[in-house]
Amino acid sequence: MDLTHQDWKSRAEKLGFRGQAFIDGRFVDAVSGRTFDSVNPATGAVLTPVAECDAADVDRAVAAARRAFEDGRWSRRAPGERKAVLLRLAELIRANLEELALLDSLDMGKLVTDAATGDVPGAAAFFQWYGEAIDKVFDEVAPTGPGDLALVRRVPLGVVGAVTPWNFPLDMATWKSAAALAAGNSVVLKPAEQSPLSALRLAELAVEAGLPEGVLNVVPGFGQTAGQALGRHMDVDCLAFTGSTAIGKKFMEYAGQSNLKQVWPETGGKSPNLIFSDCENLDAAADMAAFGIFFNQGEVCSANSRLYVERSIKEAFVEKMIARAEATQPGDPLDPGSKMGAIVDEAQTEGIMRFVEAGRDTANLVAGGERIHIDGKGCFVQPTIFDDVAHDDPLARDEIFGPVLSIIPFDSEDEAVAMANDSVYGLAASVWTDNLSRALRVSDRLFAGTVSVNTVDALSAMTPFGGMKQSGFGRDLSLHSLEKYTALKTTWIKYKA
Ligand code: NAD
Ligand code: MN
Repeated sequence: MDLTHQDWKSRAEKLGFRGQAFIDGRFVDAVSGRTFDSVNPATGAVLTPVAECDAADVDRAVAAARRAFEDGRWSRRAPGERKAVLLRLAELIRANLEELALLDSLDMGKLVTDAATGDVPGAAAFFQWYGEAIDKVFDEVAPTGPGDLALVRRVPLGVVGAVTPWNFPLDMATWKSAAALAAGNSVVLKPAEQSPLSALRLAELAVEAGLPEGVLNVVPGFGQTAGQALGRHMDVDCLAFTGSTAIGKKFMEYAGQSNLKQVWPETGGKSPNLIFSDCENLDAAADMAAFGIFFNQGEVCSANSRLYVERSIKEAFVEKMIARAEATQPGDPLDPGSKMGAIVDEAQTEGIMRFVEAGRDTANLVAGGERIHIDGKGCFVQPTIFDDVAHDDPLARDEIFGPVLSIIPFDSEDEAVAMANDSVYGLAASVWTDNLSRALRVSDRLFAGTVSVNTVDALSAMTPFGGMKQSGFGRDLSLHSLEKYTALKTTWIKYKA
């Protein structure tokens, strides 16, 4: 990306916002007429009013989605035809890259350069991947014998509800909707109230790409109202959720208290990163350990927030980490020179700072620790490191969801694995060692949906992403995510053999 700070600023000034709900192929106000403000956390400025959808709007969106599903305008199109639309959508996302990158950056504070080189190309790539995949997935014929033909097919579920968080607004909307749409479902998406703008634009682009009206609907609003209405809806067949563990549990309750819809929670994490002294390139390990906690302001579900370092190299490694923290100071998210952006909002910033303040008394603060302002404004937190954190300290147990790293020494492989696994979460883990047997042995023993060896946050469209334990059990990405959005259906045919 070769745009300058000034380029991004002038593009941001010219940017238009669409804050209405997107239902049945059109932008509409909430039934109540109410709106809430979309705020830029880097400046505190209001970007635009956004439709405050509630149960009445969710009803309209679900009804539109159901009509579209029933009449087959998308659900009964050949996979090859669905593919063509999803590939066009991928191209439109690429064609509107700067706008989409700005929407996410302005709405939730991430670096616009990260959005432009990561989030937006990623969204295009995932729509492309599912588009390309969907006409290559075959079903089964059971080995019955003559006189019987039993087809075992994956069929779309109907109306998929998706509720997403604010940390990767466009990508979370994409991770849910690309696979659900590829499989032939209709979707009603409730983006996080902190960052609804890119999902609304995505739905508009999808119609431009040829997605029939009513197949992808977006209802911005709050969790208690719009989110809960979707979770409790009697005509929603599946609820794909990404967000906190507490709210993931709520969606399972909603399903049990309503229509037994399938619920796929992908929730929080407190991912361990294990550095063994037999890791040859400790500088690379430190670079990636810093990336693993400071990327996206630490607002990453799989953030490597617990760093376990073998005691013999700990002091030297802490020095490397301090240097990297000092080089990762936040700045204006629109400035390509900034190393970190703004925290999503005031409430999240205050929550992070409560952990930091408590940690000053219980652990050894070695880097950062301050909330700062850029040009006198905004929600910014310095990259922060605590050393010698006790294993049972909240710093080492709770998901902080900010740029705060806890370092904990270990003396043996067994001890490192035991501490790493002693968590209610199990989303991701990393291991650094050049001993192949140790890499495999430790990976085998770690309870995590993804274990990265000699890297952090390994992720691709080809491999499933999701957790174990209270990180939930839904899987995004890969062909396996199609399983969430389809049911197995048997059709048994008798014939004269
Ligand atoms: P959150 O759980 O507060 O909100 C997520 C979504 O749920 C939002 O759209 C919100 O409006 C909605 N919601 C909130 N309360 C609700 C309620 N009572 N009923 C129905 N819906 C409700 O999470 P957040 O703060 O937006 O996001 C941060 C969390 O997301 C972190 O825990 C993070 O680990 C997790 N996350 C997980 C993954 C993953 O793939 N496992 C990816 C990104 C983020
Ligand atoms: Mn916002």
